[in-house]
Amino acid sequence: GARCRVVLELAEDFAPHLLNTLRRLAPAAPAEPSRAALTVVGSINVDLTAVCERLPAPGETVIGADLQRQPGGKGANQAVAAARLAGRARMIGAVGDDPDGGLLLRHLAAAGVDTTGVRRVPAPTGTALITVDRHGENQITVCAGANAEVSLEDVSFAPEDVVLCQLEIELDTVCETARRTPGFFALNAAPARPLPAELVERCDLVIVNETEYARIPELADAELVAVTYGAQGSALYAHGRQIASAPAHEVAVVSTVGAGDAFCAALVLALAAGLDHETALRAANAVGAHAVGDASSQPEFSPLEHYLPSPS
Ligand code: ADP
Repeated sequence: GARCRVVLELAEDFAPHLLNTLRRLAPAAPAEPSRAALTVVGSINVDLTAVCERLPAPGETVIGADLQRQPGGKGANQAVAAARLAGRARMIGAVGDDPDGGLLLRHLAAAGVDTTGVRRVPAPTGTALITVDRHGENQITVCAGANAEVSLEDVSFAPEDVVLCQLEIELDTVCETARRTPGFFALNAAPARPLPAELVERCDLVIVNETEYARIPELADAELVAVTYGAQGSALYAHGRQIASAPAHEVAVVSTVGAGDAFCAALVLALAAGLDHETALRAANAVGAHAVGDASSQPEFSPLEHYLPSPS
């Protein structure tokens, strides 16, 4: 019982490869209702960013870049945003049995994310190689690593769970998550790719930016799609027909990285809490604007109520 769980915690630090075996042997923790406001099934990455004067052409070497190393991945960014907006979130994912994996797990837990559903697998931790020039133009290469091994083994979804996926893990795992979610299921369809009709039909909500909306024609039939338009705000479409919209908040742009992820977490929490469409969009725009004004891809947030429009 308790002793096994202590061993688990030690294994996390000192022998990650033993962790999955130990988890199977340890008796389950006493059953308690899931208190997570949002369950994210998705990617966990290290973002390695080189900030340089200009992007290299193919075959070219550019020198003099500054290196930054930050926690990232759409899944982890959305789980951290949800935990900060709503107090607690649950992450289902996978990291490697390397030092980055341990660091990312501890970072998620420190942000208030329940990481018991994050497995450590014998693969490198997911890594995004990002190059940014002085105009903010970027090139991104994602090495999925452990994210390709996300599995729903030992994961259960209760009817009250609100579940959010993105497309940085295997599509089959996203489809299985959708099938096994008894309650509210949302998909941030990013990066854009063709979607099976069965998945689109199961989504209670799909969230995309306008480029992704144009690239995924299947979404024209979807029940409810939120489209983000950067500094132009966001709108909701039901079967291709606009049913609500909200303007963006004015903000001095510091970094747009992570704004879409913060918007996703906020909109799903707001709609799942029963807020009306326009109020939910306005709250998510306020959260997105806060993220745009913050240098981090995982900014600090106040509780979601703080971003609700004041009654007029
Ligand atoms: P993505 O980063 O996924 O392309 P967007 O750029 O559309 O997504 O941004 C997501 C949301 O963040 C927008 O709908 C808006 O609410 C907010 N946002 C993004 N850019 C700005 C901006 N320049 N000013 C104010 N809000 C912004």
